[in-house]
Amino acid sequence: QKPVPSDIVISRSCVPKHIGHLATEVGLLSDEVELYGKTKAKVQLSIIKRLRSQPDGKYVVVTGITPTPLGEGKSTTTIGLVQALGAHMKLNVFACVRQPSQGPTFGIKGGAAGGGYSQVIPMEEFNLHLTGDIHAITAANNLVAAAIDARMFHEATQSDKALYNRLVPLSGGQRKFSQIQINRLKRLGIDKTDPSTLSEEEITRFARLDIEPSSVTWQRVLDTNDRFLRKITIGQSPTEKGHTREAIGFIYAQFDITVASEIMAVLALTSSLEDMQQRLAKMVVATSRGGQPVTTEDLVSVSLRGGRGGVSKSTSGITQCGVLCVQGVSGALTVLMKDAIKPNLMQTLEIGFLMEGKPLNPQGTPVFVHAGPFANIAHGNSSILADKIALKLVGPEGFVVTEAGFGADIGMEKFFNIKCRYSGLRPHVVVLVATVRALKMHGGGPTVTAGMPLPKEYVEENLELLRSGCSNMRKQIENARHFGVPVVVAVNGFKTDTEAELDLVCGEAKAAGAFDAVRCSHWAEGGAGAVALGHAVQRASGAPSSFKFLYDLELPISDKIRIIAQKIYGADDIELLPEAQHKVELYAKQGFGNLPICMAKTHLSLSHEADKKGVPTGFILPIRDIRASVGAGFLFPLVGTMPTIPGLPTRPCFYDIDLDPETEQVNGLF
Ligand code: ADP
Repeated sequence: QKPVPSDIVISRSCVPKHIGHLATEVGLLSDEVELYGKTKAKVQLSIIKRLRSQPDGKYVVVTGITPTPLGEGKSTTTIGLVQALGAHMKLNVFACVRQPSQGPTFGIKGGAAGGGYSQVIPMEEFNLHLTGDIHAITAANNLVAAAIDARMFHEATQSDKALYNRLVPLSGGQRKFSQIQINRLKRLGIDKTDPSTLSEEEITRFARLDIEPSSVTWQRVLDTNDRFLRKITIGQSPTEKGHTREAIGFIYAQFDITVASEIMAVLALTSSLEDMQQRLAKMVVATSRGGQPVTTEDLVSVSLRGGRGGVSKSTSGITQCGVLCVQGVSGALTVLMKDAIKPNLMQTLEIGFLMEGKPLNPQGTPVFVHAGPFANIAHGNSSILADKIALKLVGPEGFVVTEAGFGADIGMEKFFNIKCRYSGLRPHVVVLVATVRALKMHGGGPTVTAGMPLPKEYVEENLELLRSGCSNMRKQIENARHFGVPVVVAVNGFKTDTEAELDLVCGEAKAAGAFDAVRCSHWAEGGAGAVALGHAVQRASGAPSSFKFLYDLELPISDKIRIIAQKIYGADDIELLPEAQHKVELYAKQGFGNLPICMAKTHLSLSHEADKKGVPTGFILPIRDIRASVGAGFLFPLVGTMPTIPGLPTRPCFYDIDLDPETEQVNGLF
C-alpha cells in the first residue's frame, strides 16, 4: 500500500472548485446562495419553498460501534461513501455533517473533516471558524445568561415602583403579548390578553419574575475545553452588592461547552425562521419561587408604543392613547442567529455528478456542514434543515448521507427518537462503522490512549480478542434494528488489519442480522475504496423497512429513560437519584412530561462507566439529574458524572497547530 500523506497535505493538494460553481451544479439559484469567500457559502431557506413539490432522495444515517477515544471513522466513512456514490456510481449525493467544536479540534481528537482521501475541503476552513455559526450561538447563549442574572439583581435591589418605572420606557417594543406571556399572565391570575388594559400593579407583577436563584439551569458557554469553568462563582464585584451565585451540589453556576448549549440544539432541530424564533422564546431558564417555569420570553421589558397623538405615562399606569407592548429576549436571540440558520455548503475531494449524470469538474461532491451538537452531552446530529434541503436537491434517485455522533447507543438513538420525530423524515438505511481496533478493545485489549502508540494487540493479528469484542458490534446492530431500518456494516480497514480479521468481522456482522457487511478502504483510496459499501447501501435502500420509534412520548418520564437504558444500553434498571426524582416530578407538573429524552452519557461504553467495554451487563444506570431543553424539545438526563464541558489533556492538539506567516497556511491540523 502506498503511504497516505497527512490529512492537511492531502487537503491542500486539491484545488477546490469555486463554491459558486458547485452551488449552480447542485441546482441552487444565484440569489439563494450567499458566498463566504471561494470555498464556503450559505444557502437561503427560501429554497425549501421553491422545491417543496420535489420528491425526496434516499436518506442514509451513519453510526458506529462503541468507539475508542481515537474515533473509528464515521466522518471519514460518511465522506468516503458520498464520494463512492457520487464520483464512482454517478448518483446525485449530498453529505450532511456537523460543524466541529474547537474543544476537540484543539483538545484530544483533532478535526472532523474526515481523513485521508475522504475529506471535506479545505479542512482548515471546516475545522476552524467556518462561517461563525458557533460564535453566534455563544453570543446568543451568553446574552440570555447575562439577562437572567441582571434581572434577578434588579428585582432584588429595586422596589416595585422603581422596577416598573425602569421597565416601562416610553418608546420601543414591537409586539403584543405572545401566547407564552398570556399563559404566564393566567398563571398569575391576570385574565387579560390586551396589554393596554393592565394596571401598573399587574404590569409590575408580570414583570417581576421572582426567580429562585438555585433553580437557574441556564449556563454560560464557551467553545473551549476549559475544565476550570466546570463550577464557578459569579457576581463577586462590589457592584453586584453581594448577589453572588455559586455552584454547590445541584445549584449550578458553571460554563458548558457551546455545542452543548440549548441554542445549538434549537438550530439543529428547527424547521424555519419562525419556528426558531418560537423555540428560542420557550426555552426554560429557571423556576420562580412559586414553582412556575421561567422562559426567555418571560425576561421581558414592557414598553409603550405611541398611537396617534403620541404617548404619555401617568403614575397610575398606561396612557389612554399608547399601546403597551412587551418584548422578551428572544427577539434579540433570533437576530443573533439569523445567519446561523442557513446551512453551509462545502465540498469533498472528489468529483460529483449532479446534473443528470453529467460529470463535473474535478473535486466537489457537495456537503452541508450545519450545527454541531456533541453526541454525549447533547443530541449529536447535524441540522434537520440541511438534511431536508439536501433530500430535495438530490432528487428521488439520489442519496443524502447524514452522520449521527459516536456509537449507535448515543447519536443514532437520538437521531431516531429526537431528530426524526421532529423532522418527520424516515431513513432508508443505517450504516454502522466498525473497526478491528475498537472491537479488539471490546474483547479485552489494553487501553487505547490518544497521542500514544497503539499496543501490539492492535497492530498484530489476534482473532481471539477480535471475536470476543464482536459482542459490542452485535449489540449495536441489535440497537439499530430496534428501529426497523436495514443495517449495513462498514468495516473501516486500517493498514495493520489482516484479511482473516476483516473477514471475521464481516461474517459476525451478517450472522448478527446486518443486511450486509463490507470492507472499505476509502481512507487510503478515496471513494473507490467505498464502492462496495455504496452498492450495499443502494441495495439496502430498496429493502423493506418498518420504521418505529423506541418509546411513546406519552409514557411517564422515568419509563422513557428506563426503556432506553434497558433496550439500548443493556442496563438492568435505572436509579433516579434525589435531584433527578425531584425534576421528574417538577417537569411533569410544569407540563414538559411528553418531551423525548436526550441522554447525556459517556460514549466510551454502552454503560455509564467509560472503562466497561464490550457489552456490560448487570448494572443499574444512575440518573444524577435531569434538565429540560423545552425550546429544543427534549429532557436531558445526566447519567453518572458526565461533565458538560470537556477538559484538556496534558498534551492537547493545539501544540501542533501553527501559522506560516509567509504563506498564511495553517499547519498541524489533522
Ligand atoms: P469518527 O467520526 O468516528 O469520530 P473520524 O472519521 O473523525 O472518526 O476518524 C478519526 C481519525 O481516524 C481521523 O483522524 C481519521 O483520519 C482517522 N482514520 C479514519 N479511518 C482511518 C483508516 N482507515 N486508517 C487510518 N486512519 C483512519
